[in-house]
Amino acid sequence: MLNKTSLLKKPKPLFSILYCLLILFCSHCAFRPSGTLSHYDSYFPHESNTNPIPKGKIRTTFLGTTSILLDDGETQILTDGFFSRPSLWKTAFSKIESNPSTVQSVIDKAKIERLKAIFVCHSHYDHVMDAPLVAKQTQAKLFGSSSTLNVGLGAGLNQKQMEKFQPGKPIQIGKFTITVLESKHTPPFRIFGKTNATDPNHPNIESPLIPPVKATDYIEGGTFDFFIQHGKNKILIKSSTNFVEGALDKAKVDVLFLGIAQLSLQPIPFQEKFYEQTVQTTKPKLLIPIHWDNFFKPLSVPLEPNLQLGDDFESNMKYILKRTQDDKVEVQLLQGFETIDLF
Ligand SMILES: [Zn+2]
Repeated sequence: MLNKTSLLKKPKPLFSILYCLLILFCSHCAFRPSGTLSHYDSYFPHESNTNPIPKGKIRTTFLGTTSILLDDGETQILTDGFFSRPSLWKTAFSKIESNPSTVQSVIDKAKIERLKAIFVCHSHYDHVMDAPLVAKQTQAKLFGSSSTLNVGLGAGLNQKQMEKFQPGKPIQIGKFTITVLESKHTPPFRIFGKTNATDPNHPNIESPLIPPVKATDYIEGGTFDFFIQHGKNKILIKSSTNFVEGALDKAKVDVLFLGIAQLSLQPIPFQEKFYEQTVQTTKPKLLIPIHWDNFFKPLSVPLEPNLQLGDDFESNMKYILKRTQDDKVEVQLLQGFETIDLF
């Protein structure tokens, strides 16, 4: 007769060890960068201009994720300004808030000294979290959605230093004319069973968001692109990997800053439509990929590609490089604090 206990499935020791090794191996891979930057060395300009900006030129400095500083020598404007970059551990397991000394060190290192406006593309923490503090520390005006303004109010920013932007209505800042365009967030994804999709019943931050708060308390609140004109030069800053069909039909540009996060994780037809609705529609001479770096690491060390946990930098770049080669569009990557003259 069979002993009853022998019928219970006891995990075999070898199987348990292999299973544990597999889990360790997978998590080890997940926390590794999703690409090797040295493969793209020739796409980095490896030059940082420190000379005064010649009249009529526009200098840009990349400050990670979708934080882009534009400077014509008289006026600076900035998108997002996410500089604190709390660690993955902190972001996942505790409340987060801006780090004033980190923010100030970035302001100093990037020579943000005549900043007049900050434009926030959406109100997830990796875009909006530090914008109110950057505004406070530089006296710049914060432009954003109602959700962004609630982040500003929660951080104690004076209402007079904030303005809700209206898509389609140009805003003049020095010689820069900024038109905000309705856009769409990168398709939602799941991580450890959690989704970053917006709850349709709560699409906006409805009241002042007083930090510290959980990362998930930063609700998208709409996603926007920025079409920027300066004299005859035109720039589009598109932070998210998505599009509103036809929204960029009239936005021919010289330089396109293009969010490429998770591009290759989307179905092929999406990738093709995204490329068509962005690069092929705006016809830039120069494309600068953005939102490719691991924002759980500080800006004080060289940027690394997003983690394998949620992205595939290598495949994103392969796709972009192949398509732009066919279309004869120049591509440049920028390291953190790297600066180039666009025109
Ligand atoms: Zn987002």
